[in-house]
Amino acid sequence: MTEGRPLPASRGCRDAPVLKERGQREVFCGLTGIVWLHRKMPDAFFLVVGSRTCAHLLQAAAGVMIFAEPRFGTAILEEKDLAGMADAHEELDREVARLLSRRPDIRRLFLVGSCPSEVIRLDLARAAERLSRRHAPHVAVVNFSGSGIETTFTEGEDACLAAMVPGLPPAEGRELLLVGALPDVVEDQALRLLSGLGIGPVRVLPARRADGAPGVGPQTVYALTQPFLGATAAALDRRGARRIAAPFPFGEEGTTLWLRAIAAEFGVSDETFARVTDAPRARARKAVAAAAATLRGRSVFFLPDSQLEIPLARFLVRECGMEAVEVGSPYIHADLAGPDLDLLPAGPVISEGQDVDRQLDRVRAARPDLTVCGLGLANPLEAEGLTTKWAIELVFTPIHLYDQAGDLAQLFARPLRRRNLLRLEAAE
Ligand code: SF4
Repeated sequence: MTEGRPLPASRGCRDAPVLKERGQREVFCGLTGIVWLHRKMPDAFFLVVGSRTCAHLLQAAAGVMIFAEPRFGTAILEEKDLAGMADAHEELDREVARLLSRRPDIRRLFLVGSCPSEVIRLDLARAAERLSRRHAPHVAVVNFSGSGIETTFTEGEDACLAAMVPGLPPAEGRELLLVGALPDVVEDQALRLLSGLGIGPVRVLPARRADGAPGVGPQTVYALTQPFLGATAAALDRRGARRIAAPFPFGEEGTTLWLRAIAAEFGVSDETFARVTDAPRARARKAVAAAAATLRGRSVFFLPDSQLEIPLARFLVRECGMEAVEVGSPYIHADLAGPDLDLLPAGPVISEGQDVDRQLDRVRAARPDLTVCGLGLANPLEAEGLTTKWAIELVFTPIHLYDQAGDLAQLFARPLRRRNLLRLEAAE
């Protein structure tokens, strides 16, 4: 089997003390996940039970949908609902009946909780059960929460996938399940690589179509593609499935180690692994090297946002030669992040949660070359002369696996190059 770079002698950051922050947060809520989930599941509809604010957030985040038949909407809770003067369940049933009679193409309906529905304690689990019975077998109704009280934006996907797990059919045979909503083009690349390694059958959660839903059982082994899927992993474990622990497939090294862990589970030979991965690995290394010239020796500070921070810091430090000052994540699932923490050389502060003012103080004191942060913090930091990268772009752009490794490095190199150009222009 071809070798990755040697692991650091220590356990990297696995045992580093974690700075726990509990204060004001600056992140989108879990409703944002609907923007990429609805593209992944074209026969699904996401009905947010929320307020006009929720509707505006979705429309602003996914404005392109105005040209297509929408696959998400908001059942607005009016004041009389919020004041308990109307039966919100009855109104919801009517709304769903109207929607499903107009849209026979819908096979999966997600009732998505929001801050307002949680504040009035609207029981969407009960609603989903009732509506499932009423509209079975054509439509399966599932609920999850995207409320900003409970979730940061990538946790919306986690809550959605976790909610689907109990309804998956049982499976007897040994299967590999890939878990996480990758863009179709990236998912196809993963399936091609795994097929080249002779690994199968491979199923995907979420499936593109309701009738392609994977089974799950004690013979199922699964590989996560995203580090924010802690609740989904726990739900799969409860069904008897077993997770293949690995770093996440970002960059050449991360992708190789992720594939290698799966290959080891399925007894793939070293020769086969090398034959399938050597060429894409070489291409990925070359593409990363082109961007790494800009990144090498520069410092990076991750504010907590997407939960991608730890594997991305590992990629930037080990493959692009950057120095991580602080790696903040809204939540750290220790088991899931462990293999990436092992690889991240000791040094950066690892922080979990957010206290935005204290974190901004640390950013200002460190004055890193690049700060990865949410949209709301980027402009003020740019105004202070700091260079930023919007964390949300990392979720909306294909960044997994070999063929995207160069693009991933370029996403971080671009703001640094732009800043250099601006400085040059100012100096002329
Ligand atoms: S769920 Fe909460 S945080 Fe998200 S848009 Fe609605 S009101 Fe705002």
